Amino acid sequence: MQNIEQLKSAALQAVENSTDIKSLDEVRVQFLGKNGEITSILKTLGKLAPEDRKTVAQSTNEAKNEVTDAIEAKKQAFELAQLEEKLATEKLDLTLPETPYKLGKRHPISACIEELETIFARLGFSVAAANEIENEHFNFTALNIPAEHPARQDHDTFYFNDFEEFNGEQQRKLLRTQTSNTQIHAMQAKGAPLRIIAPGRVYRCDSDLTHTPQFHQIEGLALDKDLTFSHLKGVLQVFLSQFFERDVKLRFRPSYFPFTEPGTEVDIECVFCEGKGCRVCKQTGFIEVLGAGMVHENVLKAGGINPEEYQGFAFGLGVERLTMLKYGINDLRMFFDSQNEFMQHFGKNL
Ligand SMILES: [Zn+2]
Repeated sequence: MQNIEQLKSAALQAVENSTDIKSLDEVRVQFLGKNGEITSILKTLGKLAPEDRKTVAQSTNEAKNEVTDAIEAKKQAFELAQLEEKLATEKLDLTLPETPYKLGKRHPISACIEELETIFARLGFSVAAANEIENEHFNFTALNIPAEHPARQDHDTFYFNDFEEFNGEQQRKLLRTQTSNTQIHAMQAKGAPLRIIAPGRVYRCDSDLTHTPQFHQIEGLALDKDLTFSHLKGVLQVFLSQFFERDVKLRFRPSYFPFTEPGTEVDIECVFCEGKGCRVCKQTGFIEVLGAGMVHENVLKAGGINPEEYQGFAFGLGVERLTMLKYGINDLRMFFDSQNEFMQHFGKNL
């Protein structure tokens, strides 16, 4: 018994004398480990006389519990001291740079389309859509470009080998070369009066510095009983001024499109040199931005509209070109690369 009391005192003293968690653990191993001094006594209980066994076991277990509690208490004291020391020395440096965390941005083409939709919504135009896989009728014939018409050759068209029957004829399927197909679908679906814009992808078999096989157009169409060329001019003036956030000067040049009569190409005063003449506008002071005109009566008829009752105007423009002009982007391919630097600079915040 004396032995156990001495052992316990020695153990508690050793716990008290330990200087850190490591030396404390050494004390634990020495007394309570697998071959520790207290553990060893418990292992030999079986060899004792039965009358001694109970008292030795009881006192040894008490010693074990007391030393275990002492070690645990000492350990917590060491951990608390460590934490206090850490808090005392640690400083929060508010001048450290933030961890870079970049959100993605909306692609400038998507942002531009949304902006145009917003502008035209204020002018009473709703958004219409049509399929990108189209047939010759809607892409050409209904737009007053019959099969033998030379304008068909101007569009470097991606044709499918498939045909579909339409109006009792086999119509070859193709990737639409212009958003103008939406005009016909919208007229047939909704009739007149009508005010729509149709943003979307179009495809032409053409690829160089200024052309890509896929690009975006926005088509506009307005039909009513008393629409004139003046309305077209007014709508374009408002739309282009709002888009470029300045009072842009427009120039209308007579032009030919099969689906309009009369047709016009519309230039804006160069946004880079304000009309003085620069490399971008080839010293002319003007930049071409879109094609427009009064809707040809054959197109109205194809859409099921009576040209004696309704007239209208239409316009079409390239979204990439308009975006490049607005933001001074000079390489079309950057829209497709979508490099992070480009997106961070020209993209729109989400
Ligand atoms: Zn210029």
